[in-house]
Amino acid sequence: MEKITDYFGSLVFDDRVMKATLASDVYQSLKRTIDEGAPLDTKVADAVASAMKDWAIGCGATHFTHWFQPLTGITAEKHDSFISPAPDGRVIMEFSGKELIKGEPDASSFPSGGLRATFEARGYTAWDPTSYAFVKGKTLCIPTAFCSYGGEALDKKTPLLRSMEALNKQALRILRLFGNDTVKCVRTSVGPEQEYFLVDKEMFDRRKDLIFSGRTLFGAKPPKGQELDDHYFGVIKPRVAAYMEDLNKELWKLGILAKTEHNEVAPAQHELAPIYATTNIATDHNQLTMEIMQKVAAKHGLVCLLHEKPFAGVNGSGKHNNWSIATDTGTNLLTPGETPYENAQFLLFLCAVIKAVDDYQDLLRLSVATAGNDHRLGANEAPPAVISIFLGDELTAVLDAIEKGVPYCGTEKTVMKLGVHVLPKFTRDTTDRNRTSPFAFTGNKFEFRMLGSSNSIACANIMLNAAVAESLRIYADRLEAADDFQTALHEMIRKTIRDHKRIIFNGNGYDESWIREATQERGLLNLRTTPDCMPMLLSEKNMTMLISHKIFSEAELRSRYEIMMDNYCKTVNIEGLTMVDMAKKEILPAVETYTADLASALNAKKSAVADLGCMYEQTLISRLSALTDRIYLATEELEQALIRLKAISDVTAAANNIRDEIIPKMALLRVPCDEAETLTAEKYWPFPTYEKLLFGVK
Ligand code: ADP
Ligand code: MG
Repeated sequence: MEKITDYFGSLVFDDRVMKATLASDVYQSLKRTIDEGAPLDTKVADAVASAMKDWAIGCGATHFTHWFQPLTGITAEKHDSFISPAPDGRVIMEFSGKELIKGEPDASSFPSGGLRATFEARGYTAWDPTSYAFVKGKTLCIPTAFCSYGGEALDKKTPLLRSMEALNKQALRILRLFGNDTVKCVRTSVGPEQEYFLVDKEMFDRRKDLIFSGRTLFGAKPPKGQELDDHYFGVIKPRVAAYMEDLNKELWKLGILAKTEHNEVAPAQHELAPIYATTNIATDHNQLTMEIMQKVAAKHGLVCLLHEKPFAGVNGSGKHNNWSIATDTGTNLLTPGETPYENAQFLLFLCAVIKAVDDYQDLLRLSVATAGNDHRLGANEAPPAVISIFLGDELTAVLDAIEKGVPYCGTEKTVMKLGVHVLPKFTRDTTDRNRTSPFAFTGNKFEFRMLGSSNSIACANIMLNAAVAESLRIYADRLEAADDFQTALHEMIRKTIRDHKRIIFNGNGYDESWIREATQERGLLNLRTTPDCMPMLLSEKNMTMLISHKIFSEAELRSRYEIMMDNYCKTVNIEGLTMVDMAKKEILPAVETYTADLASALNAKKSAVADLGCMYEQTLISRLSALTDRIYLATEELEQALIRLKAISDVTAAANNIRDEIIPKMALLRVPCDEAETLTAEKYWPFPTYEKLLFGVK
């Protein structure tokens, strides 16, 4: 048996390989680029490229690609082989520093949301040396950022790196104020828990809705769903276990720290969580994980569904973004400290997050907005669309005592004065975890739970980093100008608690009464759909903040708005067209055939015995006949609405039309189709049922 320790990271050009293959001065220079962002000179780049090529060829690679994350949400790659002609008619394998650092893919087919019209048709990719290169299949993949020639970001990595830099800059100002001169860099870390479904490939191939939209658009509830809670953490079935084993191995080879795996709440639903990493690496790894999940599934005759809501009536899939801030010296700034000073610092960072989440609820909400995720948020299975923070009773009580200036009734019965008293030790309560909160403090990190399973985690982290950077900037401005640091600090923390405590909610986020309280009493936002929240990206408050931290330019924001809305429209449009197609070509004919067969049976029976009642056949025939009429009419209505939608050219108007017209019509069509399924003999039904899809993998 191969040992994990032997093959872990074997396909990654990581620090170990760099050290072993690069000359010492080249290695040192590259390290400075990775750790401190120092520019790389061409000589060093050539040496790195050459070592990388030799190593990659040793791993079986013949090609290289700049691997990037365009705004389509998936990764893109264009392969070039290493071959270069030699004078003797043979070839040599070449890869230069220039090719490593910069690539020029034809950008014209990637969404740019108008940036290309304003700027240049071509884009370029630039090496991100902070994320290791790796070999996938026969290709050396070099993680890169993707920009237009005008320097405008056309990808998700560029603004993510900028947001990390913004947070680093502001957090360092705060640490300096606390007298810390040794920390060189502050980084955010993320551990994304990834949910997914596995279905049988043969069944998947027989459903156009799964093929075209990644989710079922029809399907009656099976007799058994998730109500027994017998799947969650249940014994993993042999086929799934074999899949997970293979998946882990592939991920480990790529240096991805896949750690935890278990069955999730819904039948056929599973989860994989890696050990956390620096945000941009975690983001790259999550993209790779999603890709490898699908590839490995294919090898096992399975399909991995990453859609947020593949099945109605059972839980959908999300992604939990566990997020923390840490220094290069290894201190997690969201861990309560041992000394009064550390505690004050902890409270300040905690408050920065509270303020950020309250001030930028809209940005966090829209950072997870997609047509798919709209099915989950607010549907009593995922956090509601309203954003709030769970802090736990103990920490909430501490903040309460600080705000009111009254004794904290914890272990010490004293009035909390920051910078003087050690905070009471928090017991990290892992038993009573509130799973209904969209944004929960879990002892030393926050868990942002609204992300959809297919989302890139980049967007959520860009907004989170940006919003926290803004809180820290405001704090640093005030504290740097203060005469008395202690007093200013204490006052600022109190003010944050007073101004932003409305965002803290420790109760059940699934409760109807919470939505009422949140929106009516606390004035929190409830942005239910993508068209509801996306326009907030362009509000003056949000644009000013994002532009001031140099995370986005105005043109980039406008382009992203266009792309997100356009993506929403296209996604739902495809679903609508698929429904029309399936209803017309599969469901109606199937029900019709079954009804006709029933009618023949009825006639046959009647001709055999003239005065038979045949109540069963007659009732069923009339019910199915009424349903086919309803299906027919609803299909016509949806089809007409989709034709009218085509005429709407403005993306905002189109998205609103989809929300108000198309989606309700899709729901109206689904009802009679699902009802017809329950009345139609199984062998007539044109595609695999929920029962087969959800319970078919053994
Ligand atoms: P859960 O109970 O939600 O499954 P876990 O404790 O298993 O929570 O952690 C889930 C994820 O959180 C894992 O990916 C883990 O690596 C990550 N995580 C743990 N500590 C941190 C941290 N300090 N920063 C970011 N992520 C973290
Ligand atoms: Mg979790």
